[in-house]
Amino acid sequence: MQRVFDVVILGGGAAGLVCAIEAKRRRHDTTVAIIEKNERVGKKLLATGNGRCNLTNMLINGNARNCYVGTFSKQAEKLLQEINADALRRYFYDLGLLTRADSEGRCYPLSNQASSVLDVLRFACERYGVEMLCGELPHSVRKNGDCFQIKTEHAEYTARKLVIACGSKAAPKLGGSAGGLDIARNFGHKIIPFSPALCPVPVKSEVLRSLKGIRAKAAVRLGEHTEAGEIQFTENALSGICVFNLSFFARPNEMIFVDLLSDFPEETVCNLIAENKKRFAALTADNLLTGFLQKRLAQAVMKQAGVSNFSVNCGALSSEQIKAIARTVKRLPFTVSNVNGFEQAQCATGGILGNEINENTMESKKVKNLYFCGEVIDICGICGGFNLHFAFASGCRVGGSI
Ligand SMILES: Cc1cc2nc3c(=O)[nH]c(=O)nc-3n(C[C@H](O)[C@H](O)[C@H](O)COP(=O)(O)OP(=O)(O)OC[C@H]3O[C@@H](n4cnc5c(N)ncnc54)[C@H](O)[C@@H]3O)c2cc1C
Repeated sequence: MQRVFDVVILGGGAAGLVCAIEAKRRRHDTTVAIIEKNERVGKKLLATGNGRCNLTNMLINGNARNCYVGTFSKQAEKLLQEINADALRRYFYDLGLLTRADSEGRCYPLSNQASSVLDVLRFACERYGVEMLCGELPHSVRKNGDCFQIKTEHAEYTARKLVIACGSKAAPKLGGSAGGLDIARNFGHKIIPFSPALCPVPVKSEVLRSLKGIRAKAAVRLGEHTEAGEIQFTENALSGICVFNLSFFARPNEMIFVDLLSDFPEETVCNLIAENKKRFAALTADNLLTGFLQKRLAQAVMKQAGVSNFSVNCGALSSEQIKAIARTVKRLPFTVSNVNGFEQAQCATGGILGNEINENTMESKKVKNLYFCGEVIDICGICGGFNLHFAFASGCRVGGSI
């Protein structure tokens, strides 16, 4: 069966759904279909923000320049200024969704349920008459004259305009795939292969096992990049939002340093520890960092600093040992052992090369009437609502351009 649409959108995720709504909202007589390989649209959306959907971040109202990496990140600045956090929240308000921002600017639906976000998007699609073709995986997508031909196992579609909104390979169980990238490459686009991002970083260290389960406030440094927040130590990895935000840059054998007292310079830490040495002189050495760090963390620091004999008293520690302990508190070292797989990743770096996309319309510079939105493009944001924001904003821009 051959069906003809003005617009076909491949991928019914965050970007594809908004794109469809916007295309229909602007021109009611345009026929729009979403082809989604999952049985339902928006599966990944439901898993976002631990089921709460952190849909944008108020920081985008200011300058979000440092919040994204990738070849499209510079080009995206104008779009993010035009469709900023306020604009996106208004957009959702008009769809019937109330949102709230937390103290760090992260915005969630007032219901605290990602399903509310998906529901208002689905309802709008239904209201506007977007056709949802779910459970359909395109196995051939090509241009035939002025139109695009899309063949799936069940049917064949013709589209005057085609939007690739297939997302990235992150979280394959939720629909993550490289399908969109393959289609773009077949149309002559340059691509950067996807790499997992926003995920725990597997590391090696003599003391890691003893730290399993601990959460602590820290600053984490990898090369020239530093992030602060709550770090979580797992059996074989460092985790937590601050680590996720560094995961873009992690390569095997690189060093990650954790600063456990980031509010104080090393000299002050050294003086504080020297005071504890006097204060706790008659107590065993494992008490030296009492009052500064959690007990297991303190013991790991001491061991890493070469003080593993806890039967000596604090008062017996040399000034060289105090300096080594202070240095370790400020720079607890871990070696990146591996890079995590897509299963653990929330996002991916890589995608369609930015300079081959017109940032004003999101149209391909190579193929007329071919458009891109969302994570299939080479842009990736830090944690905090930046990735969904880009998916929604770019979807909205495509829908308004076609
Ligand atoms: C666990 C988890 C939590 C997250 N939490 C947040 C958060 O709180 N805030 C935030 O900003 N970001 C979060 N993200 C990232 C965010 O979900 C993505 O950046 C965003 O969904 C990207 O939108 P998209 O529409 O480009 O891709 P997707 O939402 O992945 O949608 C793409 C759709 O295309 C379909 N598809 C793929 N290939 C094909 C094909 N060949 N043909 C047809 N359909 C296809 C997929 O099944 C999918 O439904 C999270 C990600 C994960 C995995």
